[in-house]
Amino acid sequence: MAVDLDTPLKGVVDAFAATQLLKHRQLATVGDLLWFLPRRYLDREADLGALRPGVPVVFAGRVRSAERRPMRRRRGDMLTVVVVSGNHEIDLTFFKPYGHDKKLVPGRWGVFAGQVTSYGSRWQLTHPAYEMAAEDDADGKELPGGQDPAPSSVYPVYLDVPRLPSFTITRLVETVLLRLGELDGPVPEEVRVARGLPDLAETMRLVHCPVDRHEAWRGIGALKYEEAFVLQAELARRRSRQRDAVAIPRHPVQDGILAAFDARLPFTLTVGQRDVSEEIFADLAGTHPMNRLLQGEVGSGKTVVALRAMLAAVDAGGQAALLAPTEVLAAQHHRSISALLGDLAEGGMLGGAHHGTRVVLLTGSQSSAAQRPSLLRAASGEAGIVVGTHALLQDRVTFADLALIVVDEQHRFGVEQRDALRVKARGERSPHALVMTATPIPRTVAMTVFGDMDTSTLVELPSGREPITSHVVDNHRWYDRTWERVAEEVAAGHQAYVVCPRIGDDEPGADDLDGRVEAVDEGFGDDPDAASWGREDEGQVSGSAVDPRPARGVLETLAELRAHPALAALRLELVHGRLPADVKDATMRGFAAGEIDVLVSTTVIEVGVDVPNATVMVVLDADRFGVSQLHQLRGRVGRGGAPGLCLFVTTSEAPSARERLAAVAATLDGFELSRLDLEQRREGDVLGASQSGGRSSLRVLRVRTDEEIITRARADAQEIVAADPDLSRHPHLARAVEQLLGHDEAQFLERG
Ligand code: ADP
Ligand code: MG
Repeated sequence: MAVDLDTPLKGVVDAFAATQLLKHRQLATVGDLLWFLPRRYLDREADLGALRPGVPVVFAGRVRSAERRPMRRRRGDMLTVVVVSGNHEIDLTFFKPYGHDKKLVPGRWGVFAGQVTSYGSRWQLTHPAYEMAAEDDADGKELPGGQDPAPSSVYPVYLDVPRLPSFTITRLVETVLLRLGELDGPVPEEVRVARGLPDLAETMRLVHCPVDRHEAWRGIGALKYEEAFVLQAELARRRSRQRDAVAIPRHPVQDGILAAFDARLPFTLTVGQRDVSEEIFADLAGTHPMNRLLQGEVGSGKTVVALRAMLAAVDAGGQAALLAPTEVLAAQHHRSISALLGDLAEGGMLGGAHHGTRVVLLTGSQSSAAQRPSLLRAASGEAGIVVGTHALLQDRVTFADLALIVVDEQHRFGVEQRDALRVKARGERSPHALVMTATPIPRTVAMTVFGDMDTSTLVELPSGREPITSHVVDNHRWYDRTWERVAEEVAAGHQAYVVCPRIGDDEPGADDLDGRVEAVDEGFGDDPDAASWGREDEGQVSGSAVDPRPARGVLETLAELRAHPALAALRLELVHGRLPADVKDATMRGFAAGEIDVLVSTTVIEVGVDVPNATVMVVLDADRFGVSQLHQLRGRVGRGGAPGLCLFVTTSEAPSARERLAAVAATLDGFELSRLDLEQRREGDVLGASQSGGRSSLRVLRVRTDEEIITRARADAQEIVAADPDLSRHPHLARAVEQLLGHDEAQFLERG
């Protein structure tokens, strides 16, 4: 019977193994088994590490002694074998020695699998599964040439499948590979050969049945390349489709609203802001839609760049939509843009400037009476700039001529949003799109997740910024001092934020409709075993460190701080996502106007909020926040002429939490922090797949470390797609791309 990747395992391997693989790992087909990759490779030299009773272990070791003696209470002999593995000595016990004593000869190497128990002061395995290396290798000497192939010196280890030890799985793969024969992968042969990569069958042999570590790595490298290649082929196709899309060119105007705005700007643009603006203006004047990612450090002044782009669109007769992730931020944008424009934003009104336009706000919690005028002005074209939250995506929001979409703080938005806005453009034309993110994205992630976009980066901060100092504060020791410090800042005429992880109103479900606390996955880090390369998987991660204590809530904190002697005389207020929009807005206005000294809040103020007079940021239970969140929160202070102070308060004793906080406190470099952030997350999160609960489609590729592979694959894929845009000459690649898109996780591709 011919076997291919879709052949059910049942009938190819023995029935028991097929059942176990299906039951415990959902592996149904030959392809499933091949892609059930080893998690790591065992070395003879590697130490076992810490042993825990009852936990399955696999290790390589050498038999030191084997002793057969009669059992005391029963008839027959038992066999006790002592195996040495690294620094451990482990006793193997067999109550039915038959056959085992022939194989478990002192001096011989093998791989052993089972659950350890401790017996007295010694570790013990009862009736373990094992596999011995070839006899010739007994004393580890080099084999004379011309003999059997050298016995393997590394052993693949798979995720645990009950009653199928790792070496058994390796044998199953061998069986399958023998019957498979030819196997075409998605990477076209000419590319593969040019890159010196093995074909898919050989790759699988290298990965599952390597003779040595070198072979294993060669196989893994080929799989990584294949994965990167498929992804980049899809991105290349997207780029080419975008190049085919048509947009209305929006040409700059010399003496329009943009020029009038520039003339009254209260500061000088940084060189970076100017350069990026020029790139954007050039894009806007093109006949294809702009698709640009603007990344810039917190506080680098992205809003002004976006606003200038929007004004250019208005000058050319079109409209611009600005999409913000939270109501707080949308309201602030509306406020600050209106303020920056002054009478330029009073278009059509008596006393409005000659070039004027209108800026309107649309959010979900506005009453329909409040929404109506904004809707009308967007539809009529009277509003040149429409600022809003996801409410902008509703069907009833229409534009007269939508020229430009700006998405602020992209990492909060997913898929459909951009597309939903896109369809609001006129006829067949696509609007231009500018996406902004303050989370600096490492190059490899940019190439992967945002691989279909052009990128601009604002590196410098506007001059005159004072530095921000950050400290990790032990809650027990320095709690009162923290509030005294806050009071000192207020006494000096400044304001403070206090951020809590929760609202704390005991309402079940989401803590905050706008903000959210990132899951911090303590379990992920580089496996200390350098041989490990695979993804952590269910049951293998030590589990996110869920702190049993409830996190600090905004409500209790406000009450407590109001009663605190250091703060009792100050004006304290709170804001969180579940307040009505007008209450939130009034509080934020009050804070911006200096009528509130201390604002206690959830992460609704995490991104974008801009109150230059605020100089202290206190983050309570800071260990509950992710790296980028802490950096974002810190970016709320140090925006004016006074130095910023950021205090990460924690009760956590966990070294990993302390280290993370210390690392954030130690640097203000967003790129450095985004690398750190990436290290702390699982790969799936990087791609946004974790939200859907699915696996990341990346099985072996590591965005963080595989830059070279990604770069090469990108160049190769670009070439293939340029010559064969619909991939009709590369059916295997077409199929792989389709599979990638067929999965939930394809949505990460849409995130741009
Ligand atoms: P972000 O990039 O974090 O979104 P913002 O656009 O909110 O930053 O800008 C931060 C602050 O810096 C705002 O108060 C803004 O008015 C101010 N700003 C922007 N550009 C300049 C500049 N060239 N010189 C001085 N201040 C600037
Ligand atoms: Mg911003």
